[in-house]
Amino acid sequence: MTAVQPEPDIEVGVPKSAAAGLPAVAVSLGMAMKQMGPVRTARNLLRLNQVDGFDCMSCAWPDPDPEHRHTAEFCENGAKAVAWEGDTNRIGPDFFAAHSLADLETRSEYWMGRQGRLTEPMVRRPGGTHYEPISWDDAFALVAEHLRGLASPDEALFYTSGRASNEAAFVYQLFARAYGTNNLPDCSNMCHESTSVGLADTIGIGKGSVSLDDIHQADLIVISGQNPGTNHPRMLSALEIAKRNGATIVAINPLREAGLLKFNNPQKPSGIAGRGTELADHYLQVRSDGDLALWQALGHLLLRRGVADEAFIAEHTVGFAAYAEHLREIDRAEVLAATGLEWAQIEQLADVFARSTKIVNCWAMGITQHRNAVATIKEFVNVALLQGMIGKPGAGLCPVRGHSNVQGDRTMGVWERSPEEFLDALGAEFGFEPPREHGWDAVKAVRALRDGAAKVFVGLGGNFVSAMSDTGVTEAALRRARLTVQVSTKLNRSHVVCGGTALILPTLGRTERDRSGGTEQRVTVEDSMSAVHASRGRMAPASEHLRSEVGIVCGIAAATLGDRHGIPWTAFSRDYDEIRHRIARVVPGCEGYAEKIRARGGFTLPHPPRDSRTFPTTPGRAVFSVSPLAAVRVPAGRLVLQTMRSHDQFNTTIYGLDDRYRGIHAGRRVVFVSAADLAELGLADGDVVDLVSEWSDGVERRADGFRLVEYATPKGCVAAYYPETNPLIPLDSVALESNTPTSKWVVVRLERRVG
Ligand code: SF4
Repeated sequence: MTAVQPEPDIEVGVPKSAAAGLPAVAVSLGMAMKQMGPVRTARNLLRLNQVDGFDCMSCAWPDPDPEHRHTAEFCENGAKAVAWEGDTNRIGPDFFAAHSLADLETRSEYWMGRQGRLTEPMVRRPGGTHYEPISWDDAFALVAEHLRGLASPDEALFYTSGRASNEAAFVYQLFARAYGTNNLPDCSNMCHESTSVGLADTIGIGKGSVSLDDIHQADLIVISGQNPGTNHPRMLSALEIAKRNGATIVAINPLREAGLLKFNNPQKPSGIAGRGTELADHYLQVRSDGDLALWQALGHLLLRRGVADEAFIAEHTVGFAAYAEHLREIDRAEVLAATGLEWAQIEQLADVFARSTKIVNCWAMGITQHRNAVATIKEFVNVALLQGMIGKPGAGLCPVRGHSNVQGDRTMGVWERSPEEFLDALGAEFGFEPPREHGWDAVKAVRALRDGAAKVFVGLGGNFVSAMSDTGVTEAALRRARLTVQVSTKLNRSHVVCGGTALILPTLGRTERDRSGGTEQRVTVEDSMSAVHASRGRMAPASEHLRSEVGIVCGIAAATLGDRHGIPWTAFSRDYDEIRHRIARVVPGCEGYAEKIRARGGFTLPHPPRDSRTFPTTPGRAVFSVSPLAAVRVPAGRLVLQTMRSHDQFNTTIYGLDDRYRGIHAGRRVVFVSAADLAELGLADGDVVDLVSEWSDGVERRADGFRLVEYATPKGCVAAYYPETNPLIPLDSVALESNTPTSKWVVVRLERRVG
């Protein structure tokens, strides 16, 4: 394999100390105008996140109430996502005739994303070197032929990316289960699965308990393992309001991120002038995976400060005594080794907590993608229960989801291990017995493909090959499939790394009008705060051949199952209210769904801990938990890598080659490393290295040709972008209980590139 050459044009400058501002406006409009032109730019951006507009296809940050929406109700990365989808370039049969799979194999995600919108269904037949056109009916028949030809429905995998709407997700899981399997891996398996597990075990529901208003009212907001400036930028507006209301903000993150330091709100003259809102009052640059130790030390100190809300604990919780006993003493040396912090910083944090009466704790991937992520999240819950910070205004737990409808997909039943009650309701509604054996999540899906246990992979959106860990293993596994099917809007590597037979099924985007069945259709989504609302695109579709996600799923289902169980796939594809009436009868909290989503701004799903301090756990109370303090030691000369997004990226979609907040321009193959580690390893800023990860299977995984960038990160901790560094994450390196790849914790060594 040819060695990857360092990027010749890369420039490394000084990181920013403030997010957004005029540059965000310039970049947003620049990209939008370039890809969509002035008219489409105006039309799309003025409808983005508006009451009767369409929902941003990027992150899952909630929209303000209808009365408080801004004319420009979007951020830079929302605008980039719309521009990327609104791209006026088109790729169809001619493009695929000109570009063989071997050629596309050499192309970057960035290059593929810029080729334009997919326009027609395409097929790669066994042994074929190119994709060629296929009709929709033939495509559906081909999928049906493969699915019917399997020895067991469990040889098929139905993957969902968080972009899929609630209606598409509901019919998708219904199809998989009517077909006979629970193999419903989804992107949540790679991101907030640890949250779902940790919260379900302790408060009885795997979702956050706060509203936007709680953030505005809080007097303390803690942000752990999250970079909102890039991944949830409108969160900065909420933090600005909270600051104005007197809140203290604590950032806990290995890296100093501009979006946690200061927000220059581009919708305000002060923000345009660069005199925005200072954010973090306290910034703890904890070592990767040091959060568990930190929150145990915090719990210990809060117990010592006697701030326990005894009335709340007595009435609403179990397990407090064991928790208090576990933290009566704490191993300070272990805590300091694990966190890399000074004890005084932790004491100060405890003081801030002790004097706060309304605390919101926010987190994202920097917490969920570690081996002990679930234990860390349970410590978050412990501290919240200790102070009674759940189920009251201005307080609660706030996992922030990174994909627009990832939470909604799960609510609709896209889960490889849905609860019995959901399967009972589904079976009762549609008159069949759903499969009960749990299916395969994302990691198990790759193992099954690798081992030949799975033979068909269907992807409803997303870019599984690039998003998953252990790229070498994942790519080889997908290539072993008899059939891969990708429902997509634009070209990506999952179209190139494919099965013996491969299908690309082009679908409508969120910005586009959906006139399935001859009537204007809308879809629905659920944000990180359990608010469900409608989304309706108005733009003319990129091609007359496109079909909606619902239409594609129902087409495949009808071709595969015919009228088995009498499920009205055609009716569903012609009128989404038919789907919503079923959702109302199957999905808890969705009674009257079709009517509720017509209300201005939609509705919010029930959340018993938030709404009434009731906890649908086994004991019927919130559960304190006890976890061992397990700081993992790294061998000498090795470092802990966290993979992350640049500012010009959304998941595996690369909008551009800059990461301006971190001072990077025209390149992506960089590693952020501390001055102390550079000195200790005899390396220097600007050196080019190969990254090699080491794992118990003895296999050396490599990612080559990265430029070292000296950066403010804790000693022993380095950071680089995915998907370029996903090859380094072993498939079996997963979080306990949630099986989420440990993308934030990979042991690596740096090998200097000579010559
Ligand atoms: S904050 Fe998230 S949902 Fe909102 S516009 Fe930005 S990317 Fe889209």
